[in-house]
Amino acid sequence: MNAIRPAALPGELAPGYAGRFVTLNGFSSWVQACKQLFSHDATRYWDDHSSEDEDVLAQIAGLSAAELVSRHTLKPLLRGFVKPSRKLLGTSHHPRYSRRKFSYFCEVCAEEDVAFHGTSYWRREHQLVGMHWCLKHGIPLRYDTWRAPIVRSPSACLPVSQVVDRAWLDVRAMFPAVTQTLELASELLDVAGRADLKQVNMRLKQLLIERQMFHGGSHTGLLLLSDLLLEQFDPVWLEEVIPAFANKEPGVFIRAIDLLGSASFPGSSTVYVPALIALTGSVDAALNLVSASAPRRHAAMPVA
Ligand SMILES: [Zn+2]
Repeated sequence: MNAIRPAALPGELAPGYAGRFVTLNGFSSWVQACKQLFSHDATRYWDDHSSEDEDVLAQIAGLSAAELVSRHTLKPLLRGFVKPSRKLLGTSHHPRYSRRKFSYFCEVCAEEDVAFHGTSYWRREHQLVGMHWCLKHGIPLRYDTWRAPIVRSPSACLPVSQVVDRAWLDVRAMFPAVTQTLELASELLDVAGRADLKQVNMRLKQLLIERQMFHGGSHTGLLLLSDLLLEQFDPVWLEEVIPAFANKEPGVFIRAIDLLGSASFPGSSTVYVPALIALTGSVDAALNLVSASAPRRHAAMPVA
């Protein structure tokens, strides 16, 4: 293959890497690059994100498909709390890498990346749902409103990009649990493999019992996990991350949240991560709770 194959950069989002490959080699699109170089009919990568495209991208980057997914997608987090029967790789039950409509970047990270790596790039942690500011620099993220972004770098997007609402900085100041949740989510991206759901649920249940909160049976008169989240988190942010919070009032039972801790409950990472912060009170304690039961950090994710 006569093409320039740049190294994928730390935490670089897979579609962003695909975009960099496309631009460096002068192709008009990922679809054209795949057709010309691999005789592969790619989907519009950033919309459909197929496992076949991931295989091709892994070849370009000189990685295994498992390494590409572990290091360059949000799947380690999105699939970190799924049942063992669910695949970590591939498209089945694949939640979109983000429910977000646009692509986000931090302008200071972009400057630093140009200085250090010679190019700015799309970082996967900035695409996490609920991430409105850079955890490293504490400034609002910017976003590109072009519907097919990521072919151009964050630096190239800068002149036409928008800044997220600065009111999110008030949320950052007033609700430390939100920042802690984003920090935990970001850390969990680097933890390979899924958590031992049974162990995590058992320990969450212990924490609910210690706090004399609802942990099964009748919830009359007991504080619900969803109530605790409502106390600790900004309601607008909560609703964005966990849509089931729309119209949540104190005492109103939300199945998707309040059954967490039940051993058979599947849950999702968007619920587990804030719940872990609310119940343990710190990123380190939450991380210990999860990693005590499972994974190896910075290792390739096992192929299911
Ligand atoms: Zn930054």
